[in-house]
Amino acid sequence: MLSDHQFQGESHIEVNNLTLQYHSDIPPTLDHLSIAFPKAQITAVIGPSGCGKSTLLRCLNRLLEPPPESIFIGGKDLTTIPVLELRRDVSMVLQAASIFPGTVRDNLLFGPTLTQQSPNPKELSQLLDTVHLPTKILDSDASQLSGGQAQRVSIARALANKPKVLLLDEPTSALDPAATRTIEKSLTDLNGTDLSGFSCSPSMRDFSKGFTT
Ligand code: ADP
Ligand code: MG
Repeated sequence: MLSDHQFQGESHIEVNNLTLQYHSDIPPTLDHLSIAFPKAQITAVIGPSGCGKSTLLRCLNRLLEPPPESIFIGGKDLTTIPVLELRRDVSMVLQAASIFPGTVRDNLLFGPTLTQQSPNPKELSQLLDTVHLPTKILDSDASQLSGGQAQRVSIARALANKPKVLLLDEPTSALDPAATRTIEKSLTDLNGTDLSGFSCSPSMRDFSKGFTT
């Protein structure tokens, strides 16, 4: 598994000698993996199918339990952070957009409502702008969106929770090249915000020129 660049600066996520074995009778999927991800940047992580990208993502929000002191977020051992607290800060976007029934607005308000927050119309509009969707789409039936639009709503819905870390698991693999480029542009635009993140993909071919951070 490759990160697309080496960096010298401050890191937000540090993976330190992480070994993850699903069953004792098969070799570890992640074998002494050490990798550091820079703060406030979206990093592309490239690796062939089966190399452990999703496994790493699942460790990062504790869908899988990593060994203690093998992953640090903001300097804190991930396994010491209560799971619900961690998942408020670490949001995951999956390969296939998972859209909830209702309008785009319902989708964006889902997370904030759980934490008794309600983004105002301007914030909703800004969220959509981040993923290059027009404000007028707020009242559209989310089930009628194209694959690319649905994935962009999934990303906006994750961002509505104001996460510190965004994990994207092959977010464009089901999309056509034009939809892929729009999502990449949205992710590139997130560089320079406080958000740290990484986007997994099977090969560099999935990224058009200009995405790498
Ligand atoms: P990637 O996302 O890079 O395609 P995965 O993390 O999904 O790779 O899988 C890495 C390896 O771990 C694969 O060999 C896969 O078969 C294995 N694996 C994934 N999930 C499980 C599981 N729940 N139980 C056993 N093996 C698994
Ligand atoms: Mg995967």
